[in-house]
Amino acid sequence: MSFDSLGLAPELLRAVARQGYERPTPIQSQAIPVVLEGRDILAGAQTGTGKTAGFTLPLLHRLMAAGPQGGRRRIRALILVPTRELAAQVAESVRTYGGDLPLRSAVIFGGVGFQPQVQAVRRGVDIVIATPGRLLDHVGQGTIDLSTVEILVLDEADRMLDMGFIHDIRRLLAELPDRRQNLLFSATFAGAIKELAADLLDSPVHIEVARRNTAAESVSQTVVPVDRERKRELLAYLIGSRRWRQVLVFTRTKHGANRLAEQLGKDGIPSTAIHGNKSQAQRTRALADFKRGKVKVLVATDIAARGLDIDQLPHVVNYELPQVPEDYVHRIGRTGRAGNEGEAISLVCIDERRLLGDIERLLKRKIPQEVVPDFEPDPAIRAEPIPNGRRNGGRGGGSRGNSRGGPSRGGNGSRGRNGNGRSRVRAAR
Ligand code: AMP
Repeated sequence: MSFDSLGLAPELLRAVARQGYERPTPIQSQAIPVVLEGRDILAGAQTGTGKTAGFTLPLLHRLMAAGPQGGRRRIRALILVPTRELAAQVAESVRTYGGDLPLRSAVIFGGVGFQPQVQAVRRGVDIVIATPGRLLDHVGQGTIDLSTVEILVLDEADRMLDMGFIHDIRRLLAELPDRRQNLLFSATFAGAIKELAADLLDSPVHIEVARRNTAAESVSQTVVPVDRERKRELLAYLIGSRRWRQVLVFTRTKHGANRLAEQLGKDGIPSTAIHGNKSQAQRTRALADFKRGKVKVLVATDIAARGLDIDQLPHVVNYELPQVPEDYVHRIGRTGRAGNEGEAISLVCIDERRLLGDIERLLKRKIPQEVVPDFEPDPAIRAEPIPNGRRNGGRGGGSRGNSRGGPSRGGNGSRGRNGNGRSRVRAAR
């Protein structure tokens, strides 16, 4: 199938050609005609499938096809996303694909000045890309009016719910007119998403591109067993011996991300951390430095990495396994994108056996293991509970001599079992 047969306007086909896309991805060939018809969709698609163009292209087409609106510009499309990074990336896609169209957009997220956003919207925009919290602030202040929205997109809806945005989303929905088109994208369809979809969507067309919770086929996955105290040494060894030039490394906690980036820096490997405690400017700079190769290693927490669009990322390392197995699938989805081969390596210490078991159950298969010579795990080392990120910033490996002492610094009885994975992950963000 070619892009020409999807019914998109020539301006959009030109933009697609400028991007060098030869043919639509599966989500694009399925979603674009349906969105052009004006129907609601419920789409199961993860980052890396081309979903952003899948909704952006037909959305732009519909706004344009409705013709000049006359009078003041008003907000006709609203795209809600979970994170600032994703907001910035979607906004960039809107600008890229809509470059030849007389449409204007604004991006709204927290952590940056409020007034410039007010001014941008006041100048008149057709499309708003926003995270729910800051958008709700604008609605509360009367600086944004959503009563004219014709198309609503919820991108990565499952993650928005995971981040506790459901109430904000419901409040925002109450601001929208009843008659509108709704596009809901989500990687998973657990209970709360189903409920939201049922309330929100009108006879939606279901589209599912990658099987739910299955990892991309083009990613080779390996588990490297290693002692917790030797993870950093092993990581530095892998980077050097395998001549990796660009690697995305995941830690469970912000503190762990900072510390690892610092330590690798001291090892002579240019590294930077990206997580929710950094300012927007810092995060943007970190990502830009990584993209242009100024830093070799980007250390990220799950939320910060969600939706990061980095082309052809060859290596992802799980320095620490995530508490929630679905996050593993999201993490390794950062590599092997759009047909490129990718490699995901997980450094797994004895404490993480249960987390590995959870992940393999989700994947419905064992991940092959490879012991790196000289880094064989010491069979005398016993498992220790994984600390809660908020209390002590996570340990998980790398820092010699740290925290080998008593078992219960956090002192709450559930630590050993990791019973409440959710709150732990929250703490990590
Ligand atoms: P997304 O899933 O929207 O985050 O997109 C993942 C990546 O795929 C982005 O870097 C896009 O630029 C790229 N992409 C989107 N559509 C296509 C296409 N039809 N052909 C090749 N690459 C694409």
